[in-house]
Amino acid sequence: MVSACAQEKSDLSMRAPGAAAAELHPPSPSLSVTPYNSTPRPPRVPSQFNSVRTSRRILALTFDDGPHPELTPRLLDILRQQGIRATFFVVGRNVEAYPDIARRIVAEGHEIANHSWNHPDLTKLGDQGMRREVEDTTAVIERVAGRRPTTMRPPYGAINQRIREALTKEYNLDVILWSVDPLDWRKPGPAVVTQRLVDGAKPGGILLAHDIQAGTIEAMPETIAQLKAKGYGFVTVSQLLALREEPPAPAPATATGPVPPAPTGTLTVP
Ligand SMILES: [Zn+2]
Repeated sequence: MVSACAQEKSDLSMRAPGAAAAELHPPSPSLSVTPYNSTPRPPRVPSQFNSVRTSRRILALTFDDGPHPELTPRLLDILRQQGIRATFFVVGRNVEAYPDIARRIVAEGHEIANHSWNHPDLTKLGDQGMRREVEDTTAVIERVAGRRPTTMRPPYGAINQRIREALTKEYNLDVILWSVDPLDWRKPGPAVVTQRLVDGAKPGGILLAHDIQAGTIEAMPETIAQLKAKGYGFVTVSQLLALREEPPAPAPATATGPVPPAPTGTLTVP
């Protein structure tokens, strides 16, 4: 966990000057000079996120378990009307069953992401089974939608160190969990789904929902309207990661000594 944070930090300092994030949100003066600028830059190492640190009122709306033959197109209509982009963590076998919907997700500017082939608890699979779930899903997404996913959400959020290492280091997939879970799969009704998502929203948050639940789709117009009224904008998960900001600068660093570990607040596992 600590090393992942350290890697993120290095990555951010690496990207700071002239990077897209910096242009969109210039760093404060205290962040413009970082002690890491002159050190060798390690390759980017993906990591695990429940949310990201940002001062902007942005959120990533995410939908799991589709594509669903009727509900996903209905959701895509709503997102188009609202003019917002979301992230779809799709199940490989559903992509194979509904390739046109997977293509539409990509064509309309949304992010398509890996959510395994059969939706198992990956921690209960052997290494070979886990790899097949990941690889087959990436392959079908790439084949059908022409897009190689860069993010993955393990089913149930179930992950361990072995799987995290494989996903992030071997498959170059960022592990995306969530900061708000409305428990929409328990079918609490659209009004409750809306209330839970809106109440839980914070800048940099990742909202979890399921596009295989009719009540969730029904909740979306009101949810999006209320979040917009609170000043939130919507980005895909990858856009959210690209816009993440460094933690506040620590007290002036001493010339030598180890770099203190970064806060782990946004990297908890549910
Ligand atoms: Zn799922």
